Amino acid sequence: MNTKKFDTLFIINTNSENKMTNESQPQIKGKFTTCKLIKREDLTHDLIKFWLEPEESFTFKPGQYCTIGTGGLERPYSIVSSPDEKNIELFIEVVPPPDGNLTPLLHELSIGSEMTLRPRGKGIFVLQPQFKNHIFVGTVTGVVPYVSMLRKFLSDTSWPDPEKMENLKREDYQFHVLEGASYVDEFGYDEELTKLSSEHDFIHFYPSISRPDESKNSDWNGAKGRINNLVEDYISKLGIDPKETCVYACGHPQMIEDVEKRYSNTDFTFLEERFWKDDE
Ligand SMILES: Cc1cc2nc3c(=O)[nH]c(=O)nc-3n(C[C@H](O)[C@H](O)[C@H](O)COP(=O)(O)OP(=O)(O)OC[C@H]3O[C@@H](n4cnc5c(N)ncnc54)[C@H](O)[C@@H]3O)c2cc1C
Repeated sequence: MNTKKFDTLFIINTNSENKMTNESQPQIKGKFTTCKLIKREDLTHDLIKFWLEPEESFTFKPGQYCTIGTGGLERPYSIVSSPDEKNIELFIEVVPPPDGNLTPLLHELSIGSEMTLRPRGKGIFVLQPQFKNHIFVGTVTGVVPYVSMLRKFLSDTSWPDPEKMENLKREDYQFHVLEGASYVDEFGYDEELTKLSSEHDFIHFYPSISRPDESKNSDWNGAKGRINNLVEDYISKLGIDPKETCVYACGHPQMIEDVEKRYSNTDFTFLEERFWKDDE
């Protein structure tokens, strides 16, 4: 899936009856609702987790994204939380100015801040229930849709819809999360995924560090190298049937391109979600 990044909207919405109207700011056009920042956790100087309370009930499928905005700008963010959770959880990487536009504004928000929220989740980067093996490859924030899918799978025994599972049973599924980061403090959900993998033999977590020689990573004992260079070796060791396997890739465009190259002319099914375009 080639998801286009949203264009920045600097549109004065003179007819808007929405609460977010503020004449000193450019306005976001079209239908939107609002949400409130109720909790944030700053993992590093540029990685933050947000918990948003939607003003109206917000529907989405695990793996989809929401579109939030402030200061007249809006961007899509994949959702960490399961649809069964009350609040929307996000994991955001701040792109510093001059390149970053919305994220420097998000970085400044305090608890209680209101943001715009498009009415429902979007996107087709969702679990493919007809496959037995799910290889979830992500870089840093690219792990987000997989966390949502796993949370939903574990909390709702009627998901996925049995009619879409073809001849499979829930017990047949195997999930492998392969996450790459430069530094150990960037994984974001490593504690949760490590716990899930120790509790369930159908969940596997394989984090890798691409800069193992840097002092920040001196305690790292896990896999080393860029995750795209490790995927093939990891999958080949599983000895799984390609026709029963979907490889998902999410996050950094170069990682996705590389994984796609490795699997495009094979019997594996490949699905992608790019967070930005390579040429930007
Ligand atoms: C479907 C979808 C889901 C997304 N989900 C997430 C998510 O869960 N978490 C998240 O942090 N971002 C996510 N993004 C990216 C997000 O929408 C923004 O593009 C990003 O937060 C930067 O916003 P910005 O306005 O500050 O910069 P932009 O104006 O969007 O981009 C400025 C420049 O930064 C580049 N850029 C954008 N993101 C990054 C990055 N992470 N690292 C390096 N360069 C970057 C762009 O190519 C561009 O050149 C998603 C994008 C899409 C299309």
